[in-house]
Amino acid sequence: MTTKLTGIAASDGIAHAKAYLLVEPDLTVEKNKASDTEAEMQRLKDATDKAKEQLTKIKSVAKESLGEEEAQVFDAHIMVLSDPDLMDQTKSVIDSEEVNAEYAFKQVTDTFITLFEGMEDNAYMQERAADIRDVRKRVIANLLNVTLPSPATIDEEVIIIAEDLTPSDTAQLNKKYVKAFVTNIGGRTSHSAIMARSLEIPAIVGTKDITERVKENDELIVDGINGEVYIDPTEEEITSFNKQAKEYDELKLEWEQLLNEPSVTKDGKHVEIGANIGTPKDLVGVKDNGAEAIGLYRTEFLYMDSSELPTEDDQFEAYKKVLEGMENKPVVVRTMDIGGDKELPYLELPDEMNPFLGYRAIRISLDRDNIFRTQLRALLRASVHGTLRIMFPMIATVQEFREAKAILEEEKALLIKKGVKVSDDIEVGIMVEIPAAAVLADQFAKEVDFFSIGTNDLIQYSMAADRMNERVSYLYQPYNPSILRLVKHVIDSAHKEGKWAGMCGEMAGDQTAVPLLLGLGLDEFSMSATSILKTRSLLKKLDSKKMKELSDKAVNECTTVDEVIDLVNQYVK
Ligand code: PEP
Ligand code: MG
Repeated sequence: MTTKLTGIAASDGIAHAKAYLLVEPDLTVEKNKASDTEAEMQRLKDATDKAKEQLTKIKSVAKESLGEEEAQVFDAHIMVLSDPDLMDQTKSVIDSEEVNAEYAFKQVTDTFITLFEGMEDNAYMQERAADIRDVRKRVIANLLNVTLPSPATIDEEVIIIAEDLTPSDTAQLNKKYVKAFVTNIGGRTSHSAIMARSLEIPAIVGTKDITERVKENDELIVDGINGEVYIDPTEEEITSFNKQAKEYDELKLEWEQLLNEPSVTKDGKHVEIGANIGTPKDLVGVKDNGAEAIGLYRTEFLYMDSSELPTEDDQFEAYKKVLEGMENKPVVVRTMDIGGDKELPYLELPDEMNPFLGYRAIRISLDRDNIFRTQLRALLRASVHGTLRIMFPMIATVQEFREAKAILEEEKALLIKKGVKVSDDIEVGIMVEIPAAAVLADQFAKEVDFFSIGTNDLIQYSMAADRMNERVSYLYQPYNPSILRLVKHVIDSAHKEGKWAGMCGEMAGDQTAVPLLLGLGLDEFSMSATSILKTRSLLKKLDSKKMKELSDKAVNECTTVDEVIDLVNQYVK
């Protein structure tokens, strides 16, 4: 019989394939007395030989599916296995202590890892430590006779089941074979969900316990539109979902007709629809979905994809590529927003009780301004290659904005003095994602060139509900009248000073929110590229004056989310 599980619909679409569990097995090692040390040494040799074979295979598959660069990491892993020091020391522990191979190997690798990780300023050694950790898992798994998942080798259609997916897990997934993913934790705005939308694969997050409910190779249907997973579906269910998938594909074809059209409402009001991107690679999706701008370039992925701080030149190349790729259409680049659920191991930030309320984003940039200045110089140099807008994340006070802007001006003056060409038309704005900034938007509007409302954070801070925590996801309420009032105040404040207001949080692409935001006068909507065409299609059906009436009512008369949803349904048939 079919089992049905529900979670949070994170990325649209329907998929049907078998389960692939991306769950780490238990690799706890016990210490056992081994009188036959020769046999233990042989076990170690067999396990490392097998690991080498496995890694060589993984590497060749990864090279095929992900490319040369991504596959190179496996060379480093194979090298670890050939390190004579590591092997000799393990043998010597087996011999002298008469212990089992897995225990000896764990002891010796621990020593190496501690040593290398201790060399704090040496990025190379830090990487070696990470390589040893990875390889150790494989060797110990072989010794314990358990199988490790290896997403890079997937070469048949699967649905990934995991606790959560990190950006580096996602980077290893080949879209050709990974048809969907479902996770235990996360919310609609957690970064794994955002990645799924940019990969254009259906995803459901926050199911709480999918990893325990599904076994490897179980047949699954993932309905990313309604947030439902079917385990062992019946023939009828499969037929019905295939039909829905076909209808969804037809709808997508209809939306595609709007690829090169501007985003205008039924009564001719033009708004700008931009795309949110994480890397220059996302430009393909931006083009394929007809974005009129990039409303948010999350530059922190540049820092996260690297094992040390990216250089000014590396950053310059990335920014230039995006600006040139957009051929003078606006590109809003957000300065580094590390922190929260986006970690950067090499910055060695201390663990915090409340990372989302901690040392992150502009707070790091202003504190460690050498990192910030490098990024700003790269941006300023790239500015002549297109239409650049710079945006600071997590601004809480006007002073922070002034300080960040002053550093930008200083770097600009220094570059110009050196004879470097810099555009003289760079708009500088802020993310409005902290309630304090939203409330004081009227004062901010006198100093910034634009606002981009970051509802992913603004909602979590306003409702005091962690955006990653599925237990409180019911409080994640974009249509709550309180949020609508904040958004209205931000937009009105911008307009009063002749500035524009955009939104780059996920709410901007939410089909129930769009009519309200249009009514509130939002100028720019920036969203996952895959939401652009359906939003453009929706806007075509809306009358901006009627939507103003709708949003006025929602803001002034509604008390609950349900009332707002009902009202939207009355106005948008
Ligand atoms: C936001 O907070 O709404 C936002 C767009 O930024 P991020 O999701 O990267 O925190
Ligand atoms: Mg944010």
